[in-house]
Amino acid sequence: MSQLSSCFQNNQFCILVEYLTSLNEIFPVKTEFARYPAVMTLADRVHSDHDVTPLAASEQYPDSVDKILHFAGKGRDIQDIELFLQQAKAAKIKNLLLLTGDKLKEHCDGKDGAERSRYLESVNAVMAAKQFGGFCIGVAFNPFKYAEAERDAQYLKLHKKLKAGADFIITQLGYNMDALKQAKIFLNHHQYTQKILACVMPLSLARANFMVKHQVAGIVITPHMLQVLTDEKQTGLNERVYLRCALQMLMCKHLGFAGIHLSACHKPEEQMLLESYIEQYRHLTLDELESLWNSLWQVKTGKEFVPELPYYSCQPTSSQIIKYQQLHFMHEVLFESKIAKGVGRFIFRAAWWENTPAAKALLKTEYISKHGVVGCESCGQCRLGDTLYICPETCPKGLANGPCGGTTLDRCEFGDRECIHSVKARLAKAVEQTEVLKEKLIPTVPIEVRGTSSWKNWYAATEA
Ligand code: SF4
Repeated sequence: MSQLSSCFQNNQFCILVEYLTSLNEIFPVKTEFARYPAVMTLADRVHSDHDVTPLAASEQYPDSVDKILHFAGKGRDIQDIELFLQQAKAAKIKNLLLLTGDKLKEHCDGKDGAERSRYLESVNAVMAAKQFGGFCIGVAFNPFKYAEAERDAQYLKLHKKLKAGADFIITQLGYNMDALKQAKIFLNHHQYTQKILACVMPLSLARANFMVKHQVAGIVITPHMLQVLTDEKQTGLNERVYLRCALQMLMCKHLGFAGIHLSACHKPEEQMLLESYIEQYRHLTLDELESLWNSLWQVKTGKEFVPELPYYSCQPTSSQIIKYQQLHFMHEVLFESKIAKGVGRFIFRAAWWENTPAAKALLKTEYISKHGVVGCESCGQCRLGDTLYICPETCPKGLANGPCGGTTLDRCEFGDRECIHSVKARLAKAVEQTEVLKEKLIPTVPIEVRGTSSWKNWYAATEA
């Protein structure tokens, strides 16, 4: 059993210390951090799309060091994770953190005939790892969402990740303790027994400014936070960065988090400073820690960590509801009725062979009839019935099971549209279809299926 699994089994608070593979250095690895068990985690392509892989980086450290390897689905397909799982097993890796990942730095939107970048969803990666067996599987979760629909969408997807087989959850980096408490309440309320760990980072002014300037996906830094950090820097109170981090770690322990995922604290001198603050304040109660935390952050209203919410609607538009109802009706008639299945079989037999005139005509008919209505891209495995008739291919990452963590107040990480998963979550509430978004694990589309008729494939599958 890995050290991580043993900590979980014994309810022992643990610290996962993150290392970036792009740093190209071998670091002294801690097995204890402030007297808590420590585990090494290796992040996947944080600085560039071409960083050394976590698996390759892990070879620099002995097998005796317990490691968590991150696997981000960006730029990857289901075959990539199947290969990765085999290699990780051969390398005696026991723990994985499976994520969709943020936008590729060299993302290609598929325009002008170029091949569109693909993203393997975390839900599908978890399903593959669970089926493979033998790993302790972690997933990421972003509780720092402040528009109702994007928050609902995050929690709906968390249900799916846990249903798919995740063993533990690591939150996005964030500083709003109320949001972290909500995540714990959610797990308790639904009687999930999976462990949750909070991601923290010593937040200096330079780091906060960087995250704001580069709009780092899914991270919320408010003007109030920037002002507090600026004032501290000007008055020479730089070490508060580590004091605050220590307080957050200790508060999470009191709140029942299984541990901490510690980011950007890989240098021994930083670690020693942080550990010294943990030692200094570990005897405090939760109330005392919270009081100190609030005074350091100058919290007065409780809204200091919440971004300003522009006006937005919590309701779907009437045209969205009507479109859903019409498409749902058509779906039932075309795919669920006996007559439709008989006609479908006849058509699919006629178009059985790929690249025949009949197959090409069927593909073209499907594309023409659906592209204008839902943005169809002929993925070959239509998932509209499981996505409230909102085509997953209209998400720039092509995600079908739910959002990534990178939205900002319902806006897509790519910045050019509203997140389709927020639209779905809002619509699902209005038409009472929330269970579909919570329960249905939608398989990934194999590359070889893309560019074929999903109608033909569907009829073929029902006939089989
Ligand atoms: S899910 Fe696939 S087949 Fe269905 S509308 Fe979207 S691209 Fe077209």
